Amino acid sequence: MTLSDRILMGPGPCNPYPEAVQALGRPMLGHLDPEFIAILDETNERLRQVFRTSNALTFPVSGTGSAGMEAAVVNFVGPGDTVVVAVNGVFGGRMVDVIGRTGATAIPVDHEWGQPVDIDRMVAAHDSPTVFAMVHAETSTGVESDVASMGAAKGDALLLVDCVTSLGGVDLRIDEWGVDVAYSGTQKCLGVAPGLAPLTVSDRAIERIKPTPQSWYLDLNMIANYVTGSGARAYHHTAPISMIMSLHAGLGAVLDEGLDQVRQRHQTVGDAMKAGMQDLGFELFAADGHRLAPLSSISIPEGRLGSLGEAEVRSRLLSDFGIEIGGGLGPVAGKVWRIGTMGHTARQRNVTTLLAALTTILE
Ligand code: PLP
Repeated sequence: MTLSDRILMGPGPCNPYPEAVQALGRPMLGHLDPEFIAILDETNERLRQVFRTSNALTFPVSGTGSAGMEAAVVNFVGPGDTVVVAVNGVFGGRMVDVIGRTGATAIPVDHEWGQPVDIDRMVAAHDSPTVFAMVHAETSTGVESDVASMGAAKGDALLLVDCVTSLGGVDLRIDEWGVDVAYSGTQKCLGVAPGLAPLTVSDRAIERIKPTPQSWYLDLNMIANYVTGSGARAYHHTAPISMIMSLHAGLGAVLDEGLDQVRQRHQTVGDAMKAGMQDLGFELFAADGHRLAPLSSISIPEGRLGSLGEAEVRSRLLSDFGIEIGGGLGPVAGKVWRIGTMGHTARQRNVTTLLAALTTILE
């Protein structure tokens, strides 16, 4: 077995689409070359389709999902602002940290792990926050939350949403749901390597962009002069050319298959993963009715692994079968597995292979 046989069924990265891998080897172009600018423009247009938005300011931030989170925060809040943040897992907690560093006041609305965001509690947390912030798909718990209801209840506040594990794999409608700022990552349901953070900003939010004393690199006013508009572009930083070419190709694969078809594939394969694990005697961690299709969180019942430790089982899956799955984070470390069926990994054959490998190990 070679490293190229690895089946990546952790919480990301997933196995990238072949088109995305192939594009990494395309000839290098300069970041101001009109041929590259055309690819960037088309990538932004493809991102608009996947985000289901007409937002002009839609582009891939240079950096991973966390850079997207930071860009989505530092341009919109600072000292004197209040942000109500849903915390129902690790990534809501990370938002609180990032928001606090800007000098804004973060009001965390804590939830039990495994539960979706409670919109009534979000609204009750403050009369007139600057921003409501939440994670659409909590990768640490495998829970999907109701963004549309938060959009309907946001009032004058901006709505900022982490779509790292939802974009491309779960129903997501930026314009229809009233999302003002959303960011994602390339290594999950988009089926591309880690390295870029697709970001989209509504016109309403653009009017509220603030000076960002904390960050030069993520200053949206400056970056917008390079990534959008027609004609000559102003240099800000050297675009990660190969990654953008790869994202362009990965988005092409998703749109060629069809957004609805790709979402349905994630649902069908995620359902099969959950059912197969239950058949093997495992339990589902996330609350019923709020389970995320592309990321199954699996509780490990006492005694189900016999004399093996949970880390030992994951380690044998990797060494003997070339399959990666994820362990739990934070309070559920050691108690939960996180199994990703995202992007190109979201195929029935991978579910079948993992279930067979687990059966062999546990026998
Ligand atoms: N938000 C969510 C929901 C995530 O799952 C992740 C990564 O797994 C991040 C943010 C951070 O992204 P990255 O690790 O690419 O910086």
